[in-house]
Amino acid sequence: MGAGKNMANSKLAVVLSKDRPGQSEHEILERKILGGLEGRHDLEVTVLPHLYDLANDGPGMEFLRSVGGDLVVLTWLYPRSAYWVLDANGVKGRLGPTISLAEEEIDVPGNPGERAIWCLDLRNQKRPDPFLKEINRIASLAVEPATVAAGQINGRPNWIDEPTAPRWYPVIDFSRCGNCLECLNFCLFGVFGTDADERPIVEQPDACRSGCPACSRICPEGAIMFPQHGDPAIAGDPRISPKDLKLDLSQLFRDSDPLQIAEAERRRALEERERQSRQTAEKPSELPRKGSLDDLVDRIDDMDL
Ligand code: SF4
Ligand code: SF4
Repeated sequence: MGAGKNMANSKLAVVLSKDRPGQSEHEILERKILGGLEGRHDLEVTVLPHLYDLANDGPGMEFLRSVGGDLVVLTWLYPRSAYWVLDANGVKGRLGPTISLAEEEIDVPGNPGERAIWCLDLRNQKRPDPFLKEINRIASLAVEPATVAAGQINGRPNWIDEPTAPRWYPVIDFSRCGNCLECLNFCLFGVFGTDADERPIVEQPDACRSGCPACSRICPEGAIMFPQHGDPAIAGDPRISPKDLKLDLSQLFRDSDPLQIAEAERRRALEERERQSRQTAEKPSELPRKGSLDDLVDRIDDMDL
């Protein structure tokens, strides 16, 4: 990463957040998009690992928080999920309208006076052209110029390498949250807490049990997302909202009773945690047993060093 603050006038900040490793088709698309952006001196392009996996205090989020002005973010997530992941990590703004937004998102979250965060969903298109066209369209608007803590060098993107591993935690959509705190009461793993205004926050994201999406099923507003879940209703598809569409929660999920499913998921997560604790307790100590330690001392004494 280059050093120094680059107050590049009339440049637009573009961030490409890569998919998790192992998706060769996705890597090809990422490379093509970056190839199409190369040499663009009207852009500040930065490449990051998968947005959802970045640590709050890691270089990726630190970089994102440092960007001033409008920001285009290309991710392998629903724009709604990407926007609220950013928000939870202190990257604030209003969601700018892009080709990736559904009609249901016309009333986009955020204050009209705030800088725009334009989220593009890389899962929507297999070719780079629609994304490049959309970036050109956004760049041609009267954007707030980027202030980026590390600019690209010779028209090449700035790569931020942060070691990441797949994470799993809830993301709250505050444009929907009704502040009932049911999530806080339901989760037995201490994931949720409250802020100074008594609003729910994801206080300990990594305490969430991998694969458990239970609280997203009990949230009466459909405000809790797990961006990597296979079911769009849980991963952040904006077209599915019990509040806006006046749906019964039971209609949201393919299975019949969301509360029962959530309770079963929570029970499974508890059992898994107990199984893991038992395994840890049963694991033989890696320290030498007293007998072997005595043998070792005796052997060293015998060596007469
Ligand atoms: S259950 Fe849903 S609506 Fe209620 S506080 Fe939690 S996130 Fe907000
Ligand atoms: S998914 Fe389960 S473990 Fe994770 S926050 Fe929700 S209830 Fe808690």
